[in-house]
Amino acid sequence: MTAAREEMACQICLSPLNTLGTPPTYVHPIQLAADGHQPVPVPVRQLDTVNRHCDFCGDPYPAWTLVGGEVTAVAIGGAAGLVQNLGHAWAACATCQTYIDDDRTEKVVDRAVRAFGLGDHPQVRERIEELHQAFLNARRPGRTLITTTAWPATVITARELPKVRDRLARFYRGTDSLPTALAATETRQEVAAGLDRAGLFWIDDDFTDLAEYAAEKLPDVTINRDLMPSTDGMLVWSRPVTPRQITAASWTTTSDGWRLINYRTIGGGLDGTPLQRLREQVGWLAPMSTIQVHDQHLLHGEQPAAALVATWLLVAQQAANVTTAEVDKAVRKSYARANRPTPEVRIVRIGANRGTRPSPERSASGDPERPQSSRFWVSGHWRNQAYGPRRALRRPIYISPFLRGPDDAPIRLSTTVRMLSSHMPMSEDHD
Ligand SMILES: [Zn+2]
Ligand SMILES: [Zn+2]
Repeated sequence: MTAAREEMACQICLSPLNTLGTPPTYVHPIQLAADGHQPVPVPVRQLDTVNRHCDFCGDPYPAWTLVGGEVTAVAIGGAAGLVQNLGHAWAACATCQTYIDDDRTEKVVDRAVRAFGLGDHPQVRERIEELHQAFLNARRPGRTLITTTAWPATVITARELPKVRDRLARFYRGTDSLPTALAATETRQEVAAGLDRAGLFWIDDDFTDLAEYAAEKLPDVTINRDLMPSTDGMLVWSRPVTPRQITAASWTTTSDGWRLINYRTIGGGLDGTPLQRLREQVGWLAPMSTIQVHDQHLLHGEQPAAALVATWLLVAQQAANVTTAEVDKAVRKSYARANRPTPEVRIVRIGANRGTRPSPERSASGDPERPQSSRFWVSGHWRNQAYGPRRALRRPIYISPFLRGPDDAPIRLSTTVRMLSSHMPMSEDHD
């Protein structure tokens, strides 16, 4: 592999592909040929998710790309896993990175020996160590965050949102690199400044369900400021949404429109020092994809920002009940010390004014029949509606049986949705 050649992955199994010969033939890493499909090479930059492994130890959740010596070793001792260790850019998991940073590279070798099941023969150790050293001795300073790793989901609560936002802004201002679309320092500074100003929104379970179903069928939308619940903002869904598994999104006002960014959570399943370091140095979120849109930009329904745009639209059409969350004392104090106004986190729930009664036997969490109750939303659809001055503008509004209102008795009776969470103020008489 040369520096000039773009990295490719297989569109079917999302594995990075190795190359053979000139001109190159793309081949699966040998341990992956199992189901016999032919590799379908696509440039890695087109994929949100890539099934990469740590090139040191085989861990399935690599966090960093390091650049070092060009290593051309092929599999040794029949250890298929090591065939990925080609080239000068290696993926490192958070644990290996921690050991490398602490100059404890013998621990990295231990991990490799264990992971590849090679048995702890001195010769095997020696060969692995050689391989690692060939790379690390020529390592160049810096590292790039891997944003394509499908980490197990991490739950982010509304109370944590200010801290999550601040850590992300700090990461954008820091020196660790990001892949192409967000690589430019200027862009990163702009996004960081936008995050400082951002309105913070936390979307509860039910609204997340609604937003996900609505996003699936989102029609083309003309972007303008009216769609957005704040000038700059960041929102977190209660769980990852859409097949892309997006957990958060931000929008930043720029000189010619807005920059929209989707995020995934990182660090799920880690603990101890590697987790602490990742939280400290990166935080909770990694940007997955980004798009720059301008005013009156026609955004097509099926694109990465659909979940964000659908959520905006649902909030704008007042399907939402927006309340303000309590902010931790510690967070309030640290903001006060920094002369910043206390952050406000707005919690977005399904609107209470739409006449659905809460169903007492169901709660917002731990509902055993979640898939069934969620099906309720599928029947909704988008319709274009006139709005604005002289009703000259059009924007999609989401029509669903639930949102039709209190007079629709049959629909009400069929409402088995665990609609309103127990924290919802229930002052109205719903019968
Ligand atoms: Zn494949
Ligand atoms: Zn590793």
